Amino acid sequence: MNAAVRAVTRGALAHGWEVFGVRNGYAGLLEDRIEPLQARRLRGRNAPEARVAELRAALAELAVDHPILRNVHDVRVRETPEGELVVFHCTVDPLRTVMDVHQEVDALESDLRRRFPGVRRVIGHAEPRDHTRMTAQQTM
Ligand SMILES: [Zn+2]
Repeated sequence: MNAAVRAVTRGALAHGWEVFGVRNGYAGLLEDRIEPLQARRLRGRNAPEARVAELRAALAELAVDHPILRNVHDVRVRETPEGELVVFHCTVDPLRTVMDVHQEVDALESDLRRRFPGVRRVIGHAEPRDHTRMTAQQTM
């Protein structure tokens, strides 16, 4: 999977959507080469709530240096044999370019790994601001 497809897949799966990929572009569409895409199965177990809270607070603090990323939420931490896996969501102005958003998310991911050497991987999902408002209403 290339980085763009992987990012879209992760983001969609995080929101509970099913994702399908078409191999070989338009030709694959005609040849019915369509297959479900999955994130690698998560191993390990959920980290204790105190650790999640610590990393959530750190992400919120570090995000101040990346002002286009707002409202860090849905922070999840998984303990795996290779180290911790941290997943978070954040919101962005929908008019920002994908490239800008991607750079800032990458930078925030690196900042967190630098501060916490036990964190092996960080996956940030950026979503347009309006999406969160809808999600918040749905969960109330
Ligand atoms: Zn979200």
